[in-house]
Amino acid sequence: MTDKKPVKTDDIKKAADERKCPVEKALFYITEFLAGPMCGKCFPCSMGSYEARVILNNMVEGKAAEEDLLKLGRIASDMLEGSMCKKGKDTARFMIQWLDTGDFARHAEGICPERTCPAYIEYTIITAKCTMCGECLTACKYGAIYGEKKRAFISGYQPFEIRRAKCVKCGECIPACPEKAIEVVDAKAGEAVGV
Ligand code: SF4
Ligand code: SF4
Ligand code: SF4
Repeated sequence: MTDKKPVKTDDIKKAADERKCPVEKALFYITEFLAGPMCGKCFPCSMGSYEARVILNNMVEGKAAEEDLLKLGRIASDMLEGSMCKKGKDTARFMIQWLDTGDFARHAEGICPERTCPAYIEYTIITAKCTMCGECLTACKYGAIYGEKKRAFISGYQPFEIRRAKCVKCGECIPACPEKAIEVVDAKAGEAVGV
C-alpha cells in the first residue's frame, strides 16, 4: 500500500471498482478525482464534479431521492459534452456506466442491492440458527449484542439479538459466529419486522 494518490482517471476508476456498490464506487471516484486530477479550468467538469459529490454523499448516507438520478444523469451528460479534456470526459463516461447499472434507482427506493452501504443495511441474528454459544458477545466491541450464553440444565435464557441503536455495522460479529447465524439484511426489511 502506498500513500501516493492515483493521478490518472483510469487508475482512480480501477481503485473505485474494488468496491461492490456502484454508488460507493462513484463516490470514491469523484472524491479522488476532485482531490487529484480535476484542475478546475472548465465549468462543466468542476461544477459537475462538486455537485455530483454532494449528491453521491447523500445517497450513500441513505438520503437518495429519485430526482438525484436525473440530476446525476444531467451532470454526466453536461460533463461529457462540455469538458475540455479527456479527464472530464472519462469521468462522465464512468458516471454513466455506474448509473446504467440500475443500482442508483434501487437506492432511491431505500435498498442497496450489494448490501454494502451502511445506511441501507442492518445486522441481525437468525434465532433458528443460533446455538447461544456467546462468541459474538466477545467479538462485538460496541456492546450491541445482547443475550445469555447457554449453560447445561439452566433454562429461561435471553435470546441473542443485535440492538440497532448500538450497532455501528462494523461486521466483526459475522466471522465470529461458528453457525453463520448473523446476517446482513435490508434495513427496510428490518424496520418491517421491528429488528
Ligand atoms: S475537463 Fe479537464 S480541463 Fe476541464 S476542469 Fe476537468 S480536468 Fe480540468
Ligand atoms: S456489526 Fe459490529 S457493532 Fe454491529 S453487532 Fe456486529 S460486531 Fe457489533
Ligand atoms: S456467535 Fe452465532 S451462534 Fe453463537 S451466540 Fe452469537 S449468533 Fe448465536
